[in-house]
This record gives sequence, C-alpha cells and structure tokens, in this order.
Amino acid sequence: MTGDHFSLILLPTLNCNAECDYCFETKTNHRLGLDQLSEVAHKVMDYLSRNHIEFLSIYWQGGEVMTLPPEWFEAANEIIQRIADGRNKGVGHFLQSNMIAYGKKWNRVLSEMFGNSVGSSMDFPNLHRKLKNGGAREYERVWTRNMREAVDAGIEVGVISIPNEQTLELGAERFYSHFVDDLGIRDLQINTPFPGGSLNDVKKGFPLDHHRLTRFFVDLATIWFERGFQKGVRIGPFSKLMDYFLRGNKDFVCIWRENCVNEFVCIDPRGHVAQCDCWVTSYPEFRFGNIFDDVGLSDLLKNSPARRSLQLRPGLLIQREDCLECDYLSICHGGCPVRAYTVHGDIFRKDPYCLLYRNLFQMMQEMTVKPQPRIGSPPAKPQGQGESKDKVAYRQV
Ligand code: SF4
Ligand code: SF4
Ligand code: SF4
Repeated sequence: MTGDHFSLILLPTLNCNAECDYCFETKTNHRLGLDQLSEVAHKVMDYLSRNHIEFLSIYWQGGEVMTLPPEWFEAANEIIQRIADGRNKGVGHFLQSNMIAYGKKWNRVLSEMFGNSVGSSMDFPNLHRKLKNGGAREYERVWTRNMREAVDAGIEVGVISIPNEQTLELGAERFYSHFVDDLGIRDLQINTPFPGGSLNDVKKGFPLDHHRLTRFFVDLATIWFERGFQKGVRIGPFSKLMDYFLRGNKDFVCIWRENCVNEFVCIDPRGHVAQCDCWVTSYPEFRFGNIFDDVGLSDLLKNSPARRSLQLRPGLLIQREDCLECDYLSICHGGCPVRAYTVHGDIFRKDPYCLLYRNLFQMMQEMTVKPQPRIGSPPAKPQGQGESKDKVAYRQV
C-alpha cells in the first residue's frame, strides 16, 4: 500500500438472505465475532502506523451485512473508533447491502456510522437477483419497498446494476427511464458480469456479447449526457470518465486503478485475507494468508506469493498482450484480474471486456472534445455524493 490512505474491504459475515444467479461468493454461516473484529482492527492499525498511513476506509460487505443486527454494527463502530483514536488515525465507513432486511431499526447506525448513505444493487429487468426461496419478482418487490422507505428516511441509496441479455434487448432508454425517472435513482453504477465462483447456466453466458454490450453502454452514455449530466445524475463509469477527460481526475473504480493490489485488501469473517471478495471467498489459492495467524498484516502481505503475482500483472500484461499499443493504457492498465482469471483461467491476460472499455474510452473522449456548450461546467455534486461514489468503488455485483 502507498500514500496516506488504506482501504479495507471487510466481510463481517458470509451469510446471505438472497441467492443471486451470478453471485461469485461461496457463502457460509461464518460471522465475525466482536473480539475477532477487535483483533483485526488492532492489526490493521498496526499496519497503518508502521507504514505512516493516516486514514482507514472500511467498506463493509457480505454475504449480506444486514443479516447481522444493527446493534452489532453499533458495537463494531465503537470498538474501531476507540482503537483508531488510540493511534490518532482517521477512519470512515461505507456500507454495501442488498437492503432486503432493511427497516427503520437500521436508521440510527446508517446515520451515525455510514453518513446516511448506502450502496445497493438492482437490475432491469431483474432476472437474477433472487430471494432465498422467494425468486426474482419477490426480491424486486422487497428491494423497491425498502429502497423507497430508506430514501424517505433521508438515506442516499446508490445502485449497482448488472446488465443481462434482456437489458440489452430492451435497450438503454428503457433502462435509464426505469432507474432515473421512475425510481428516482441519482447515483447508478453499471458493472459487467463475470463467471466467478461455482459455474451455473447463467454464468456460462458471461462475458456478455461485446458488440451488444458496447451498443448498450454507448446508448446509455448518450442518454445520460443529454438528460442526466446537467441535472447531477451520476452514472458510473460515465461520470468518472467525463471527469477524467475534462479535468484529468483519475478517480476510477477498482478495475481501472493502476493496480488494485496496491490500494485495497479484503478480510473475511474467517480471517482470510485476499484482494477482494471474489478472491477471498471462492479462490483459496489466491489468498494472501490469515489475519488471525501469529503474523502482522505487513509481513502477511509482503510474504504472499499470490499478492506478488498480482503485483507483477501490469508489467507482464504489456509484454504478453497488446495493451502497450492501446491509447488508453494509462486509464485501464489491462483491467480487472479477477475478470481475466474467471474467463481465461490466467491473471496475466487482459480484461475480457477490453473491447467494451476501448470503445467507451474513445466515445467519452470524443464527447468531451466536441464543441458542446453544456460541457465544461458540470453541476455541483449534492452533499454526500462523494462518499457514495467511493462506496461503490469495489462491489462487483
Ligand atoms: S450477489 Fe450479494 S445479495 Fe446476491 S447472493 Fe451474492 S452476496 Fe447475496
Ligand atoms: S474486482 Fe478486479 S479490479 Fe477490483 S479489486 Fe477485485 S480483482 Fe481488483
Ligand atoms: S482497453 Fe484493452 S488493450 Fe487497452 S489497456 Fe485496457 S485491456 Fe489493454
């Protein structure tokens, strides 16, 4: 890790109340005890002190975090804050939840710990997000009700959405209208699906057809630019790309960071440490070690062969792939290793959505250089939106 900031993706439970077709996590009933949390927090703070890092961001994910009670989070917040205060370190919390178990009992902890903000997920149409024993339609009904209740309580809800075959069939106009006009979502992120974890019929269809997916992204970017950009609607990755091409700000989601391995680390409730949630739950051979072993986090990371291989990836990619000739190498860096691994079985391959990325980079670049009177003075972000953008920087489904 480098710089004055460290990001931890913390999975306090691997239990979930849903059964989504494309989930890449191998779920279990494990949950982190508060004593274990204290041990994790001490070791992470030791790491910060040793590396002269001042601030810790914790991205809480599952499984499903709301299968734990809100009281657990209140206690967790106190424990972490006490340990951070003792080391004179700053700490911020971000929550990703499917909102299925949300109710007003969560409002206090959402306000006090998470700045009244939560990242969630929904698709259009929703085919693959399913309640355990309840199906996709019931999932959508419960999610929509709870999302609206949360918004009414003053909570900002950001949404990650994964396109499916029917999304591409219905097209970008229907997609945009559904989320932005009908549901009132103003912070949306479109992610690409990949076949992580155990294979099933749905995952066999990934990656999605590049040409149809590219068409969808390009159409959606155009609609967003015409209808949402000036009104402060944010759609990832378009908003960030626009910001980059207009102002040079490189605040991208993890797949386009210089090397994600230098910026995040993930810990699951069994103490396994790996790059992110897919690796930690479904690919034991890529774990870096276990935080509950008698070893500090610095040594654990330094001595991990799996982490070393991820560190070598960008250098090897430019020898083995055509990324060196790509105009957008400085943005993309070869993309996401877990997408490459789950599609090609090899982390030293470029991201299987390369063609989509290239088309998208080119299109967004052209959008910003065309003489467009509306570009150049994007609207001010509503308060809190900066947190929301970061909150969805890692979650993939
Ligand atoms: S994608 Fe998320 S909500 Fe769905 S089953 Fe997996 S962990 Fe649960
Ligand atoms: S999703 Fe991909 S880019 Fe993001 S942290 Fe995981 S491996 Fe890295
Ligand atoms: S867009 Fe494709 S070729 Fe360009 S850097 Fe990314 S993966 Fe490599």
